[in-house]
Amino acid sequence: MHDFFRPTIQQMTPYAPGEQPGGGKLIKLNTNENPYPPSPKVVAAITHAAQRLERYPDPIGSAFCQRAGEVLGVDPDSILCGNGSDDILTIVTRAFVGEGDVLRMPTPSYILYRTLAQIQGAEVEEVPFADDFSLTEQFSAPTDRLKLCFLPNPNSPSGTVLKPQEIEQLADQLPCPLLVDEAYADFAEFNCLELVARNPKIMVSRTLSKSYGLAGLRFGFLVAAPELISTLRQVKDSYNCDALSLAGATAAIDDQDWLTENRKKVLATRAHMVESLRLLGFSVLDSHANFVWCTHSQPVQPLYEALKRDGVLVRYMKYAGWGEGLRISVGTDSQIDACLTMLKMHLGM
Ligand SMILES: *Cc1c(COP(=O)(O)O)cnc(C)c1O
Repeated sequence: MHDFFRPTIQQMTPYAPGEQPGGGKLIKLNTNENPYPPSPKVVAAITHAAQRLERYPDPIGSAFCQRAGEVLGVDPDSILCGNGSDDILTIVTRAFVGEGDVLRMPTPSYILYRTLAQIQGAEVEEVPFADDFSLTEQFSAPTDRLKLCFLPNPNSPSGTVLKPQEIEQLADQLPCPLLVDEAYADFAEFNCLELVARNPKIMVSRTLSKSYGLAGLRFGFLVAAPELISTLRQVKDSYNCDALSLAGATAAIDDQDWLTENRKKVLATRAHMVESLRLLGFSVLDSHANFVWCTHSQPVQPLYEALKRDGVLVRYMKYAGWGEGLRISVGTDSQIDACLTMLKMHLGM
């Protein structure tokens, strides 16, 4: 049966998301979910919307666009709603990248971009970050058939962030649109939202999965020039966001107090994590996201395995030419303390 698939589908390497083990008492620090539940207003809005499920949802999510536009200070016509920001990335790739075209991404970063390009039968150009996770000139160099660039900012797994000025310069040099994936921007000090109105080649994607504690709801959105948004709406599925996620997302973006409180807790725990991991001998990059990236002079895969046996799941990552490290999501204080205690034990300290 394999032969029936398009050659590019036969050849593609599947994207492997972080483990989502069912049930158990596992401390889950491997996929950057928020350790805290979403705003109760989100649950109330979803419950209310559940009473009208015989109707199709609003195809473009006007109520969300309106409210998000007010909250973020952008034109509602510059917002595209998606079934998670992965859906946004899919729509954008389908719209800009065809067979034989080139999609550029930095490495190490979010591996899903590679899969999206492969589905299109496109070529992925992975440009390595410099040692300090800045971008080299190679990232802005024009290439034949280069049609789209993806740049996660803050980046995963490093947690590092590039300044908006650098990104604006980068976009000026590029011959194609640049999508800045701001999945973690709510945990950083700055973001690129203001650049969209200044340079229509810049698009910014956001998700409610991380900072709003709504990974299970599946909602993300794109902010881009209105002329891009109207065409991207032709590419998406007619009803790509269901009525429950639209209602929940609108209530979530409306409750900025919840976000502020949540961010405060996550950033406090993050600071404690960075400090404690350094005391355990890890090299830890300053993080601008809700996870930390740490490396050690000794191999970390056995540490990952040992933590897993203890019931603590973190992400072990290995990148060709970059070595390996652990990406540990910011959990609650007690989850992080449990993780740190076990690491200390396994390091024999
Ligand atoms: C988590 C993540 C996403 C995906 O977010 P969803 O909205 O849950 O699909 C996108 N980009 C990066 C870099 C992420 O880490």
